Amino acid sequence: AAFESLSNRLQNVFSKLRGKGKVTEDDLNEAMREVRLALLEADVNFKVVKDFIAKVKEKALGLDVSKSFTPGMVVIDIVNKELTELMGGTQSKLAKANKPPTVIMMAGLQGAGKTTTSGKLAKLLQKGNHKPLLVACDIYRPAAIKQLQVLGEQINAPVFALGDQTSPVEIARQSLQFAKDNNNDYVIIDTAGRLHIDEALMEELKNIHQIVKPDEVLLVVDAMTGQDAVNVAQSFHEQLELTGVVLTKLDGDTRGGAALSVKAVTGCPIKFAAMGEKIDSLEPFHPERMASRILGMGDMLSLIEKAQAGIDADQAKEMERKMRTAEFTFDDFLEQMAQVRKLGPLDQIMDMLPGMNKMKGVKDMKIDEKQIGRVEAIVRSMTKDEKQKPELLNHSRRKRVAAGSGTTIVEVNRLIKQFDDMKKMMKQFSSMMGPKGPKGGKK
Ligand code: GDP
Repeated sequence: AAFESLSNRLQNVFSKLRGKGKVTEDDLNEAMREVRLALLEADVNFKVVKDFIAKVKEKALGLDVSKSFTPGMVVIDIVNKELTELMGGTQSKLAKANKPPTVIMMAGLQGAGKTTTSGKLAKLLQKGNHKPLLVACDIYRPAAIKQLQVLGEQINAPVFALGDQTSPVEIARQSLQFAKDNNNDYVIIDTAGRLHIDEALMEELKNIHQIVKPDEVLLVVDAMTGQDAVNVAQSFHEQLELTGVVLTKLDGDTRGGAALSVKAVTGCPIKFAAMGEKIDSLEPFHPERMASRILGMGDMLSLIEKAQAGIDADQAKEMERKMRTAEFTFDDFLEQMAQVRKLGPLDQIMDMLPGMNKMKGVKDMKIDEKQIGRVEAIVRSMTKDEKQKPELLNHSRRKRVAAGSGTTIVEVNRLIKQFDDMKKMMKQFSSMMGPKGPKGGKK
């Protein structure tokens, strides 16, 4: 999964710190050295890494971490905040024109995911009750127009196309009138890409820009290309004044460098992240959630939001409350499994749950559906009391559960261990994120 190795490395550094009652300056330096290496290995721009480490160190020393009762937590909290800052601090929303339509110009190299993302963005806007118009200005790539039309059909959004004999500038110009005539409040212009940045491409994009005066110029970059993505963003930005970046293919095993450097290097905020080939796999980018995810604190907010789309709102709220208070039983666990399965690819969902990526057991299961079935069988074989109070599950009860579920005692033990770990992580998470903020740290 994306960020996996960075995430694992950072969590290792912090679990060492967390175990310590006292953190000396040497400990801190050692930890920071490891964080630095982890970031460099994740392909984060080296200047960005240098600044980042300097800031974290300064804050940690300023807070006099050594005097805190939970020094490890304080350092994690600092890193979490700085990672969030690095990615832009707060969510950067899509601009809106004073007078509709809002014009969004999509740019990017070939293969970055521009056309696909245009469709996804239209879908996202539709969910917000908007009426987007897609505009086919990529007249060079064979089948690009057709691709956009197919996407449009799929989501029932109009596509403005004039074939490949009219100039992109002219197509863009006419599309605005079409949008006005048809009450489309957003216009998404899919432009041509090349394999590399070249002058002709930039010239054309600038011409389109001049004609449509977009409210947003979004650069679509492939997160898998790491530093290259950042360089591409830098060059586009110099010529086109981007207003934002869309990172695609975050579902692949990107090391994370692009996500962590692009804002710092170019000054352009990441506005959306795409995590799959499906039409509904585009999400607004939330720096704070991404940071928590990288640090293995889970991305409960995104998960809950996703859940809310498919689940009863009250149920979701109650689940959130339970997670935060760590008042979480096997019944909830089972319920959550069932809900979670409705939400999409399980490994992506698992990534969002706090502690899940640290749980070797879950990883090893490879989260195949058969295994999930066994987990369900185990939980179903518990009595009502056992589900509510897992501490009741002594050896003989576990044996009974194994027999009842047609599994083995090893599997039962493993599940109970995982459940306990998950609860612990949740407790930690909620105490760190609770109303009182990070514990300790201040004298
Ligand atoms: P364009 O040349 O920039 O318009 O790129 P396309 O939109 O045609 O996308 C190129 C390829 O990347 C297609 O096969 C897409 O399905 C794929 N793609 C785009 N976004 C994502 C994503 O977020 N995840 C994955 N896995 N594939 C993506």
